[in-house]
Amino acid sequence: LQRNPGETEFHQAVREVLTVLSPVLSKYPQFAERKIIQRICEPERQIIFRVPWMDDNNQVQINRGFRVEFNSALGPYKGGLRFHPSVYLGIIKFLGFEQIFKNALTGMPIGGGKGGSDFDPRGKSHDEIMRFCQSFMTELYRHLGEYTDVPAGDIGVGQREIGFLFGQYKRITNRYESGVLTGKGLDWGGSLVRKEATGYGTVYFVNEMLKARNDSLEGKTCIVSGSGNVAIYAIEKIRQSGGKVIACSDSNGVIVHEAGLDLDLIKQIKEVDRRRISVYADHHKDAKYLANGNIWDLPCQVALPCATQNELDDKSAKKLIDNGCIVVAEGANMPTTPKAMNHFAEAGIAFGPGKAANAGGVATSALEMQQNASRDSWSFRLTEQRLQDIMVDIHKTCHDTAEEFGQPGNYVIGANVAGFLKVARAMVAMGLV
Ligand code: NDP
Repeated sequence: LQRNPGETEFHQAVREVLTVLSPVLSKYPQFAERKIIQRICEPERQIIFRVPWMDDNNQVQINRGFRVEFNSALGPYKGGLRFHPSVYLGIIKFLGFEQIFKNALTGMPIGGGKGGSDFDPRGKSHDEIMRFCQSFMTELYRHLGEYTDVPAGDIGVGQREIGFLFGQYKRITNRYESGVLTGKGLDWGGSLVRKEATGYGTVYFVNEMLKARNDSLEGKTCIVSGSGNVAIYAIEKIRQSGGKVIACSDSNGVIVHEAGLDLDLIKQIKEVDRRRISVYADHHKDAKYLANGNIWDLPCQVALPCATQNELDDKSAKKLIDNGCIVVAEGANMPTTPKAMNHFAEAGIAFGPGKAANAGGVATSALEMQQNASRDSWSFRLTEQRLQDIMVDIHKTCHDTAEEFGQPGNYVIGANVAGFLKVARAMVAMGLV
């Protein structure tokens, strides 16, 4: 705490991992001897930089850029870029810390990192977004490389922004280095299924959790918070798996449509028109928009928080439990507060932590890197099959590790311990670096 003052979200993420590690440290004393905990909590490198850009009124604007290269024991730093006004070092460090263990769980050769800026893309023109991305990359490029650090998207950074960033990297370095960024467009080195991967992966994880309880998504009522990339493709896969999604949201309110959400309309509003989700209610008379509503007040059996950190608090957790919810899986990073997680554990809810449940996105980014390295592009079917296999494996790893450490069914312990073990072993093997 004293070493990293004010970095609240980072403290929360570290606490979640460390509280479950004592049996691991007893079993493997070499980790304590080699000070793995202290080393893993300290980023290998943190870069903070000025991002000056010109707005459409010819006014100079200044933002702050970040890249935290947290851990490269398993491979090049890998993790997204977030553009949102709430971004500061504590947010990037929490995301980068989570990313280390998530990436380890995927079984792919990728280390952990994260970056972003306090730039607010909302209300900015296409050209302003482009100028910002170009300025951001003009500093960041010197720290990147397919063997060094490979960013991707996150909140506020989608394929459009990755395009501007990639274009500027190519221009500055004079290299068509496809593997330096993931989440690229399909015409220029992107991978099929990357767009869908995080949402689809979360639902595959839910399917596995339900299977472990001899149950399935068939006929289940579900709610999905957010209406961005993760939420949209979680909704799509739930529908393909026989579930019904009755609500989604954004930071202003909630759309409720008991008949089941109209996914084509959501895609049109969010991906094509880039408008707010409230517009949905103008198209369906039987849907309601709840301005400032709390999505977790709605009765459901499956709840997927897919928006942002700490969006599901203890009151909301109690409400979900009282309303008969049986499964919660985190499509977003750290959306559930620690108190809410405790409630779910006490109530015996199947709870999939983000490190495991939303790892499909970064896993498919690693598949994109594989395709770039071999100058190949795989079919949708093959890539989706690989994604599904990876999510089934992650579920099994978390499930079996939780059992091994005497906490059957506790995926939080399973994910944190399994992810930590892999990274810690590699760090010990590589000596004091
Ligand atoms: P997007 O920017 O595409 O979407 C984010 C969505 O969340 C928007 O609909 C946004 O609404 C909404 N939102 C933000 N804050 C709140 C809030 N307080 N209450 C309700 N809704 C809110 O981001 P992504 O979908 O890519 O990311 C969502 C989460 O998933 C993040 O935690 C991210 O780190 C995580 N994640 C993403 C991955 C990916 O591949 N994209 C991979 C793994 C994790 P508004 O427009 O009002 O801000």
